[in-house]
Amino acid sequence: MLKKHSMKVSLGCVISCLMFAFSCTKVNQPLSKKNMDNQENLHNPHYSRTDKNIVHLPNTVWKRILKPELYHIAREAGTEMPFTGKYNEFDEKGDYYCASCGNHLFKSTAKFASSCGWPSFFEADKNGVKYRKDISHGMDRIEVLCKRCDAHLGHVFNDGPPPTGVRFCMNSISLDFEPEK
Ligand SMILES: [Zn+2]
Repeated sequence: MLKKHSMKVSLGCVISCLMFAFSCTKVNQPLSKKNMDNQENLHNPHYSRTDKNIVHLPNTVWKRILKPELYHIAREAGTEMPFTGKYNEFDEKGDYYCASCGNHLFKSTAKFASSCGWPSFFEADKNGVKYRKDISHGMDRIEVLCKRCDAHLGHVFNDGPPPTGVRFCMNSISLDFEPEK
């Protein structure tokens, strides 16, 4: 009888210990998820601010490594809603990089306050962007893409301010900002 009783006690102890361990694991879960979100680019092995090699990947791969809203703009030529992007009304000093691959695109010194609803620049890094004629949606426009990874960034128009007279109209989601040090 005594032996049976002690077995019951130790079983109960093991179950309690397991439950405690499980509850500890549960407490830790939200923290690790948060860390992953903050280091989003670590999950994209092709993101680099120094590597200038062309990145040519099928969309099936991009879909796995980009967050859905970036995938839609960068790989499906989507457009974010005007006045909603985080860099629209934003004038910090620094540099803008491609959110898909880390390629340098713009300097904040070329950014100007435009009323169009999207972050606007009068000049791009000539090694950062390339152009393509875009006649979609019944319009005749010039599409701006990342020179390294072909991500859609936005369009360029001939109604910008001096000294260039052009306006690079960009999607905030396609950009990564690094403040000046
Ligand atoms: Zn890119």
